This record gives sequence, structure tokens and C-alpha cells, in this order.
Amino acid sequence: MRVFVAGSFNVDHVWRVAALPPPGATLAGQYASGPGGKGFNQAIAARRTGAETAFVCALGPDGGARMARELAAADGLVLHAQSSDAPTGTAGIFVDADGRNCIVIGAGANAALEPGFIASALAGLGEGDVLLAQLESPLPAVAAALDAARAAGATAILNPAPANVAIDRALLDRAEVLTPNETEFAALLARHVGERIDAEAVAGLDQARLHALCRDLLPDGSVVVTLGASGCFVSHPEARQRGDAAGHYRIGAEPAQVVDTTGAGDAFNGALAASLALRPALAFGEHVRFANRYAARSTEHAGAALAMPHLPAA
Ligand code: ADP
Repeated sequence: MRVFVAGSFNVDHVWRVAALPPPGATLAGQYASGPGGKGFNQAIAARRTGAETAFVCALGPDGGARMARELAAADGLVLHAQSSDAPTGTAGIFVDADGRNCIVIGAGANAALEPGFIASALAGLGEGDVLLAQLESPLPAVAAALDAARAAGATAILNPAPANVAIDRALLDRAEVLTPNETEFAALLARHVGERIDAEAVAGLDQARLHALCRDLLPDGSVVVTLGASGCFVSHPEARQRGDAAGHYRIGAEPAQVVDTTGAGDAFNGALAASLALRPALAFGEHVRFANRYAARSTEHAGAALAMPHLPAA
């Protein structure tokens, strides 16, 4: 029972500034760098819940790749890295005194991740394993990862993040479990269901309405909408309630001493995948409860990958 995460690795360059820079400005800020990328963050989260975890990515010929290899080894993460001539992915992040941010991503090697490499790296997937993919990789690579999971009888989870990547129906339908946050959910509804709903209004919708929207969005899969400080909402297709008595339910957020919510979604996804792999006999809702708890703990420390808590699922 293992978790395979296919996705991005970035070196995050973070500047803390008093105010976000307007065009033409030069300002001083406090600088720090560290690992990031949704794929890597989620893989570290899965690993730190105790699941045997493999991370499939593409890295450049540089110090960023060395950082990825060293950190993967330190956490006991199995790394399948395609070598690319492009630089390892980077993110330039400005954070102001109120915690607002601006992010520029240099996809670099992440944009070179090939479906063929994914297929060979995932050849070992088996029944009971869990595959987790996001949208910071080329869409053909994401499709190849989900296809490999389906063919192997593994659970295929798609975290449709970030929200600005438009995906088609064929890719969406490959997901057995879809885990959008409110912004991603609103974007997917606008594109695939023709419903325009404000991301800020999603958490306030009643359960029956949310359930109907989820069914229209992914008729044959389960949808877990993460709602930030409001916890999450789960909707299962009628034919497959995954051991849960109810076809849809809300789970409130766990109380947390919030320091930094960066990477909360990644914590949630990694923990959900790990719990599904480690405890297959449990009802789906129990895995979501664990993910919800794990994500709340992750908000109590600053940072993303390196701030993922060590919290065993089993
Ligand atoms: P993203 O980081 O992708 O925007 P969310 O903001 O929806 O994702 O957060 C993901 C999950 O993290 C939530 O479903 C919840 O479990 C947890 N979480 C986020 N913010 C809080 C908070 N303030 N208190 C407790 N848990 C939180």
C-alpha cells in the first residue's frame, strides 16, 4: 500500500516586504529560500504520515535538483526524477506584512515532464496504492499518471490546482477523487457546469446545492471541496459511497493556532492519499477527517514542505 505523487518541485525564493512592490519599484526585503512545488509538498506530507511514498518529477542540472535529492533522501521519499536540460522549477514569492502574496512561477524542468517517463516510473503501481497528481505539470503527463493508476486498480486523486490551469472534460473524468479548494471549484463549475459562483460564496452554500454541483461536475467520482477555515465538504456519486452512510457531508475545521496557511491544501491532499493507502478498510469520511486534522496542524507552522507535521495516520 503506497502513495505515488506525480508533480512539481520548485525552489521557492521568498521575499518578505512591508508592501507588495508597484511597477518600477525597488525595495528591500527579508529573503529566504527553500523547497516547494505542489507535488513535492504533497509527497512530503504523505511521507510524514507514515506512508511509503514515491515522488515522480523532472529536475534540471543544477543546485535545485541537488536540494530535491537531499531532502527526499532525508525524509525517506523514493525519488523518480526525469533529467531535464531546463533549470529546476522556481517560484519568486513576495509576501507583505498582512500575509498577502504575489507569486511568479518559472516552471523550468517541471514543464518538460513527459508522459512516457511517468508511465515507466508508475509501472510498479498496484491495487490498493494511491496516485496523487496536480496541475503544475504538463496536462499529458497528468493524464498519463491518472491512466496508470486506473489501469493498475489504484485510487486516482486529482488535486486540480492551481485554479488558472484550464482542463478539459476528458482529464477531469479520469479522476476518481477530485479535491478542489473553493477557488478551483468555482473555476471548474464555470468551465464545465456553466454555473458562475463566487469562490467566497462556496462555503456558504447549503449541502444539497453543493452535492448537486459536485454531481454535475464529476458524475462518476467523489469530490472533496476544501473550504479553508470552514473545513471541507464531501460528495460521493450515488453508486459508490465508499463505505460512508451518507452520500454527502460537511466536516468542520479542526481548531488550530494558525500561523501560516500556505500549503494547507497540499497537507490535506498528501494526508488524504496516505490515509487511503495505509488504512483501506476505513470509510472514506475517516480518511477525510484525518486529512482535515493533518491540514489544521500544518497551519500552525510557517512554510510549506518543511513545515509538514510528522503525524502518523496509523
Ligand atoms: P488551499 O491551501 O488549497 O487554499 P484550503 O484553504 O481550502 O486549501 O485549506 C485546506 C484545508 O486545510 C482545509 O480543508 C482545512 O482542513 C485546513 N485548514 C485551512 N485553513 C484552516 C484554518 N484556519 N483552521 C483549521 N484548518 C484549516
